[in-house]
Amino acid sequence: MTRVGIGYDVHPFQEGRPLILGGVEIPHTHGLQGHSDADVLCHAIADAVLGALGLPDIGYYFPPSDASIEGICSLRILERCAALAAEKGYTIENVDSSLVAEAPRVMKHAPLMKEKISAALGIQPDQVGVKATTNERMGFVGREEGIAAMAVACLVK
Ligand SMILES: [Zn+2]
Repeated sequence: MTRVGIGYDVHPFQEGRPLILGGVEIPHTHGLQGHSDADVLCHAIADAVLGALGLPDIGYYFPPSDASIEGICSLRILERCAALAAEKGYTIENVDSSLVAEAPRVMKHAPLMKEKISAALGIQPDQVGVKATTNERMGFVGREEGIAAMAVACLVK
C-alpha cells in the first residue's frame, strides 16, 4: 500500500530569534516566530507524513498551548511523526520539500538539512528533497515578512 501526504506551513519573521530551517541554524538578520523553534520546513514535512497516515495535523500532536514543548527542536517533531508511521506499519519512502523565501539564500545549507531531516525520520539523505525558491518579490514572502514551506511524503506498507 502506498500513501502520499501534503504539508504547508508559514511563519512570520521575528527579530532576536535564530533562524532554524531543516534543523540547521542559518545566519540571518531575523529568525521565525513560533511556539517551537519555528522550523517551517520541518513542520511542512511533519504535516505531509501525518497527512499520508490520515492522522490529524501537527497542531493536534504539538499544540501551542502545551508549555512543555516551548522552544522544542522540530527534529523531535519529525521523530514523533516517523514513530507514528512505524506504529501503523508504514515506512517512509521519500519526502520532498520546497522552501519559499526571498532571503536568506538557503540552498548551500541543503545537504546538512537533508542529513538532519533524514536522521530524524530514520531514512537516508537521498530520500529527502530540499529545494528553495524566491517568490519573485511578490506577496508576503516577497516583502520578506516570513518564510513558507511545502512538502510531500510517500509512505509504503
Ligand atoms: Zn509551523
